[in-house]
Amino acid sequence: MHTTSATVTESALATEAELSDLVEPPSNDLRGRLRAMQVQAVLMLTPMVVAANVVGVATLCLTFRNDVPLPALVAWALALAGGVGLGVRAWWRLRRGHAPTHASPRATTHATRHAALMGLLWALPLPLMSSVATPAQFLILTSITVGIMCAGSAALAPIRNATTAFLALMSAGALAAVLQLSADAVAPMAMLLVVYVAVVLAGAQSWSRLFKARVVAELRAEGQREVIGLLLHDFEQHAADVLWEIDNEGHLRKVSRRMARLLGRTESALEGRSLLELLQRRQRKLRESVAAEGEVALRRLAHHLQDRTPFSHIELPVSIARRTIWWSLTAKPVEGGSGWRGVVSNVTAAREAQHHVWQLAHFDAVTDLSNRHRFRIELDNALESVRQSGEQCAVLCLDLDGFKTVNDALGHDTGDQLLRVVGQRLQAARREGDVVARLGGDEFGLIVRDVSGPDEVALVAGRMLYALSKPCEIGGVTVPLGASLGIALAPRDGQAADVLLKHADLALYAAKAAGRGQFSFYTQSMGARVVKRLDVERALREAIPGKQLQLLFQPQLRLSDGEIIAFEALLRWNHPELGEVPPQDFIPVAEEAGMIHDIGRWVLHQACKEARAWPEAVRVAVNLSPLQVMARDLRADVAHALATSGLPPQRLEIEITESVLMADSHSTLSKLHALRELGVRIALDDFGTGYSSLAYLRRFPFDQLKIDRSFVSEIVDRPDARAIVRATIDMARALRMDTLAEGVEDPSAIELLHEQRCGVVQGYLVARPMPGSEVLAFLQDRAGKPLPAHADSLRGEPGLWAA
Ligand code: C2E
Ligand code: CA
Ligand code: CA
Repeated sequence: MHTTSATVTESALATEAELSDLVEPPSNDLRGRLRAMQVQAVLMLTPMVVAANVVGVATLCLTFRNDVPLPALVAWALALAGGVGLGVRAWWRLRRGHAPTHASPRATTHATRHAALMGLLWALPLPLMSSVATPAQFLILTSITVGIMCAGSAALAPIRNATTAFLALMSAGALAAVLQLSADAVAPMAMLLVVYVAVVLAGAQSWSRLFKARVVAELRAEGQREVIGLLLHDFEQHAADVLWEIDNEGHLRKVSRRMARLLGRTESALEGRSLLELLQRRQRKLRESVAAEGEVALRRLAHHLQDRTPFSHIELPVSIARRTIWWSLTAKPVEGGSGWRGVVSNVTAAREAQHHVWQLAHFDAVTDLSNRHRFRIELDNALESVRQSGEQCAVLCLDLDGFKTVNDALGHDTGDQLLRVVGQRLQAARREGDVVARLGGDEFGLIVRDVSGPDEVALVAGRMLYALSKPCEIGGVTVPLGASLGIALAPRDGQAADVLLKHADLALYAAKAAGRGQFSFYTQSMGARVVKRLDVERALREAIPGKQLQLLFQPQLRLSDGEIIAFEALLRWNHPELGEVPPQDFIPVAEEAGMIHDIGRWVLHQACKEARAWPEAVRVAVNLSPLQVMARDLRADVAHALATSGLPPQRLEIEITESVLMADSHSTLSKLHALRELGVRIALDDFGTGYSSLAYLRRFPFDQLKIDRSFVSEIVDRPDARAIVRATIDMARALRMDTLAEGVEDPSAIELLHEQRCGVVQGYLVARPMPGSEVLAFLQDRAGKPLPAHADSLRGEPGLWAA
């Protein structure tokens, strides 16, 4: 069944060869629509076919009325009328609007059968009529036969099988009629018939092929139109681009809803309006900085419209609802010269991103100051005017003191806020026209233009340092600020940007070395010293393997009974060439270079090992860098040092600084608690410097508070220092912490501290830091020496305690 219908479909339709001009074979849907068109094309000719049939039948009936029996003639005429009637009925239904868009294969089979029926009806009387015809009658018969064959084939041509069936039956009838002729006429007539039929058949088939090809192409085009329509609709709905059209005068036409929405108006309000005028009006409220660009773009657009040249991606700003929106316009003249068609898209996001990238490339994201890149450009400009006008300019390099500690301890957010404050203060303190930039990290740069000489630059530098000297409040925490500054002058210290920056940097190192909060001018001798600092880092890597590190121990004395209860381990680096490097010079380098962990581990092990040989009542105190405290393996390191040395945990005291606590981080506190669980004591070092606040003391229960030397040294001469020390001691006692006064050099300080019930003292007055090998001898020597209660009698003899 399936096979049959498939065969019918194949035969009723064009073969692949016939549709060879089509790119792809027609789909089933297309075949159905093609069949419907074929049937309809045939039916369209029905009135003509009826006329031809009526005239043909009538003429033959009249011509042969006396030679063929009347009933036979009438029966034939009626049969043909019936056949034609079938066609008329179908035609009528088509006229009434019953025109199916699809037709099944049955429809064309039906048409073929009908054609065969008509061919048969026409063929039947031909032999009879031919046998009785006079030459005149034969002429009429031949004419009508040939006419009907041609007309019928032409009418049926869209359906190839119908034509073939019709023509085959009719030519069979005609051949039978020819055979009725005299012998000498048969051959030429038969020949003629065959040739005619062949020509008609070929013509009809070629027509059928063309018809199908045209119909299929039309149907395909229709499909494509639908798809294009859908795509356009979708494009209009969703794409970023909006279609627009203007006439030759530049007036908008066929304004789409999206175009209207883009301009914030209704379609009807925009129809017929001048596009250029609309854009111009939208540019009136633009910021000055973009307005200029808008004007240029609008002029470009106007030029293109005037010259009728296509343009693409003209970006112009417009103001819509007080926002600056960027449009990109692309268009070309419509062929044939009637206006323009184009697209407009909103490229604001892209423009903003582009601007953002530019900002990123030139400005520092944290402080909004110029970045190093832009600083270089500004410096080059400044140096150019130095060369041209002979003026002087200065480059200042500024570095924050202790920024790394704040950043590590309080986190990057606080660090960033601090940098912002610094940026704002520097901006506020600069002179008009001077450039402030963040060069990276905690390093800032300044270009001071057109200065009279070093004195004027010194004034600016002083103002900058003063602006940064006041502490700053961030999230309830008072963070001390401070900076060092290096200065290089152009043209005196160099004329190229690189050279000046390098020299300002060298001056900065010198300023730092001279103590914080200072500025230095570049001098030629500075280069060598900085090379030294870089050498330090390289040399420090050799310190542990080269056994260049050493610990000194400084005793801590309990005031109540004069007993030495502990020694603080203080690190020394004895470099074969650099000599003895003080910890302030190499510990920051070790921290920056990440070597502090190895060095810290060495100190722990060495301190524990040496203390193991001391009397059981004497502890050892070890300083830890904040970076060590924050490291993951601190507890393991301490436990390992205790285990390998065999030192009981309670004989080890860890000294940390407040900066560790500034970050209210859970992990730092839990690390300290974990240490405490090991059984070691924890002391808070340098209390009173920088951040000193009760909040930190509450955060962790320290065993001991070490009052910084800066207070202790002033306790004798300054009542305010004395008040601070007293308050600190009271506070510590309330929190159940021991107190230790650092840097005691003056015997009268001991008396005051004793009065204020300070627990322990440490300082040159008791003893300078000593090698481990001298500790035992020192302790033996100390036994039985006078107690601090008698300190009064020691005034003016600082050497006695240390002796
Ligand atoms: P610190 O912890 O405050 O150590 C006390 C410093 O004051 C020591 O300096 C000590 O020699 C000095 N000092 C003691 N008594 C007096 C006195 O009466 N007058 C004066 N003017 N100074 C006195 P030092 O040994 O140069 O250490 C400086 C800093 O280096 C230490 O300050 C500490 O913060 C750090 N440091 C030392 N050793 C280590 C260590 O092993 N690891 C770490 N991370 N830091 C260490
Ligand atoms: Ca210390
Ligand atoms: Ca200290």
